Amino acid sequence: MKPIVTLVGRPNVGKSTLFNRITRSRNALVDNFPGVTRDRIYGQAVWNGVEFTLVDTGGFAEDDQDFFAGPIRAQIRQAVQDADVVILIMDGKGGVSPFDRDLMTVLRSSEKPVLYAVNKIDGEEQEERLYEFYSLGIDVPFPISAEHGYGVSDLLDELVSVI
Ligand code: GDP
Ligand code: MG
Repeated sequence: MKPIVTLVGRPNVGKSTLFNRITRSRNALVDNFPGVTRDRIYGQAVWNGVEFTLVDTGGFAEDDQDFFAGPIRAQIRQAVQDADVVILIMDGKGGVSPFDRDLMTVLRSSEKPVLYAVNKIDGEEQEERLYEFYSLGIDVPFPISAEHGYGVSDLLDELVSVI
């Protein structure tokens, strides 16, 4: 079975934008027949010859208030449990949120490999948005722009080296 790579993060950080970029871009596309469950969207991808299933966990919540209500937390835990690798997406425009810290606690207790991506860094000139994320104790946060593609290939290079 292909490795399962699961995107997690607060609402509106750009999970679905990244999911679409990775599963639809010419480089990444193998086939695109996403199976939609109530809470997860699956797509197929390949990078540098490594195939994987990408999971978008969008749809759990509309906003941060819903996001850490009990049932949604349980859905996130389950999605993380089913993953081989997790990519935590954060919002470089909005900055560090207390919900990012909560989510990191969930991920650390899962003991799954995690990559950290700071999205909405739409070019090199916005890389200073990355620095406050070091306060989360992350060794290597990847600056990316899901919308424009900046940094995404570096993230995918790292991803396929750990799966
Ligand atoms: P999700 O809720 O995590 O799935 O987030 P979405 O993918 O739906 O994106 C939420 C909003 O952020 C949308 O308005 C996107 O256009 C915007 N967005 C996503 N990625 C980027 C990015 O790389 N740069 C900027 N500036 N905006 C982005
Ligand atoms: Mg979404």
